[in-house]
Formats: sequence, structure tokens, C-alpha cells
Amino acid sequence: MPASDEVTLATAPCMFCDIAAGRMASDLAFGSDEIVAFYDVNPQAPVHILVIPKEHISGVGVVESGHEGLLGRLILAAVEISQSQGISDHGFRLVVNQGDNGGQTVGHLHIHLLGGRRLGWPPG
Ligand code: AMP
Ligand code: ZN
Repeated sequence: MPASDEVTLATAPCMFCDIAAGRMASDLAFGSDEIVAFYDVNPQAPVHILVIPKEHISGVGVVESGHEGLLGRLILAAVEISQSQGISDHGFRLVVNQGDNGGQTVGHLHIHLLGGRRLGWPPG
């Protein structure tokens, strides 16, 4: 468990670590010392933003005791962004895909913030 002021580095190249560190370009929507949010390159809704920790965590399936605070702040950031994006009044969705069956394609924990249209349920 890293100290709160440390960022765990990925052992292999990680695109979202590169975005979080500013090594790769992205369209940023929010940033703090531990969280970054940026627009998804393949948006599935009028607003589709990814909220990620700067710390490399490969997915929600590996979170540990000690990540509670960070996980809470990720959700708080997503809700604040929904408000600043003007989609909170009509509702929105937060999604975390895990593993192959969950549809995860990038191995760095991220919360999808989706809104701006009526979303279908159940998911495909
Ligand atoms: P998931 O399938 O849940 O792992 O979500 C990964 C998301 O990352 C997908 O919605 C992709 O469109 C998005 N994505 C992949 N590469 C980038 C990138 N360089 N910048 C922004 N979004 C990306
Ligand atoms: Zn990473």
C-alpha cells in the first residue's frame, strides 16, 4: 500500500498513466493531485468522461483495503464533473468495467461518466 503522496508506477507501459502524467495528450476535464478526468476518444453519449486515479491500479477487481478514500474521491470527482458538465439534473451513469467479461479494454482503473441522453438498460 503506497503512502498517500506516492503514485504507484505501472510495471508495463500504460496509456492512462501516460495521460495522467501529461506524457500523452488528452482533452482534460478535471485534474487534482491524485485524480485526472478526460474526454473519452470514442464517446458513447453526449458527455463521456473518464475519471482515473494517477496511481496505477489495474482495475476495480484489485482494489485493496487502503483504497477506500481514493475510491470515494473518484466518485465525488465524477459527481462534481457531472454538475459542471450540466448533466446532473437529468441523471447520468457511472460505469466501471472489470476484466474481459466486463468489457474492460484499458488496464488502468477508470470510471466512465456518461450522460446527456437517456441511456438504455440492461447493458449489452
Ligand atoms: P474500458 O473499455 O472500460 O476499459 O474503457 C476504456 C475507454 O478508454 C474506452 O471507452 C476508450 O474509448 C477510451 N480510450 C482509449 N484510449 C483513449 C485515449 N487515448 N484517450 C481517451 N480515451 C481513450
Ligand atoms: Zn496506469
